[in-house]
Amino acid sequence: MATYHFDHLLTATRWLSPGYVSFGVDGRISKISERAPAGDYVNVGGIAVPGVANLHSHAFQRGMAGLSEFRTAAAQDSFWTWRDLMYRFVDRLSPDDLEAIASQLYVEMLKAGFTSVGEFQYLHHDRDGTPFGNPAEMSLRTLAAAEATGIGITMLPVLYQYAGFGEQPARDEQRRFINDPDRFLDIYRVLDEATARHDNFRTGIAPHSLRAVGEDAIRDVVAEIAETTPIHMHIAEQEQEVSDCVAFSGLRPVQYLLDRVEVDERWCLIHATHMTAEEAKAAAISGSIAGLCPTTEANLGDGLFDMPGWRASAGAIGIGSDSHISVSIVEELRWLEYGQRLRDRRRNIAADAAGSSGTNLLNATVSGGARALGRARVSGETGLVAGALADIVVLDLDAPTFAGHKQETFIDAWLFSGNSPLVTDVFAGGVHVIRDGAHPDEEAIAIRYHATLSKLLSE
Ligand code: ZN
Repeated sequence: MATYHFDHLLTATRWLSPGYVSFGVDGRISKISERAPAGDYVNVGGIAVPGVANLHSHAFQRGMAGLSEFRTAAAQDSFWTWRDLMYRFVDRLSPDDLEAIASQLYVEMLKAGFTSVGEFQYLHHDRDGTPFGNPAEMSLRTLAAAEATGIGITMLPVLYQYAGFGEQPARDEQRRFINDPDRFLDIYRVLDEATARHDNFRTGIAPHSLRAVGEDAIRDVVAEIAETTPIHMHIAEQEQEVSDCVAFSGLRPVQYLLDRVEVDERWCLIHATHMTAEEAKAAAISGSIAGLCPTTEANLGDGLFDMPGWRASAGAIGIGSDSHISVSIVEELRWLEYGQRLRDRRRNIAADAAGSSGTNLLNATVSGGARALGRARVSGETGLVAGALADIVVLDLDAPTFAGHKQETFIDAWLFSGNSPLVTDVFAGGVHVIRDGAHPDEEAIAIRYHATLSKLLSE
């Protein structure tokens, strides 16, 4: 058992100044107090806030960030031209390459204040499409990267069957992704067993999307998992996906999913960008979480999520960095709020009588993200609380950003003002992984990443 001192500490209900947090080897907070303990404690100082789950990641895409920001021959660059580049990059990746990229990414996430990640992993097979001896080989490499870096992880192996609605045969570029439900469940079981050994690891499932998975297969795999297992799915990200779904079924994607499959609190709907008001209301009431990825959605030109409509039905949200064009809590939440302000031409969309924009965004993201990754002890839990995993992010109280600020505006100052990274220390599942802004293995991980990318991009 160790106790740590912070100058300020955000609990579920208020700030403690100072605050002391104790946790043991299980990585769960055993005590939070304003009073110093009788024995020794470690002085960290700073502003302690709960760590944020990065609920949607495709780790390998970190290696192609910044490579597709030019015009292609296509009449209009779009999600679909970006996807062609992604397929060419995927063709080259070995298990070692994926582990090297994921390790770099997870260090970047930790330094940004993400204490856990939902790894939506669809790259399963060898380069020619043959399954590896261990069908979960690629996924196990991202798990190894999580173990090496100390980030909490929820493995979300992806079921991917088809190229488009109506069971269109998979394309050659998709050969590394494809499984039937039985082989998918083999992968899931390997990961479920591997993550069960670690307090900070979980496994869920991810039927890729309605275009890539049949509704019978969704029901079949959901029937095989425990009642608490997270289920993630891409949905309604692109307008073309909506029109293809309507052409196929007469229903819009979210409408189709809610109509055909039992969607409940275990579900995280990734993007959910294009919903009618009725779809949003029904999806929010189902208890599903909207998994928002504002920087990727902006980069890919997806569209804007309707946050006021979602909040009106008390919908839950979380954030993910998805393609990793940016790995930043500040950018995700700032873009989320600013997109709404630009569209609606007013300010403080996320604010209400209970809290400011920044505080409400952080609280919603902490509770929705933890639930989406199967890490929540209590649904709706926010702030640092006893019993929860010790996922703690410490902000630099001495930074000019916080000059003159009181507790009430710390979160808004962090999220909305300035561009300097303010995270000094991070505890993930009770392990002090980032100290004074650095990860102990970041140099070695970066050297390996440089070598990997030099090789991949010269091929
Ligand atoms: Zn995605």
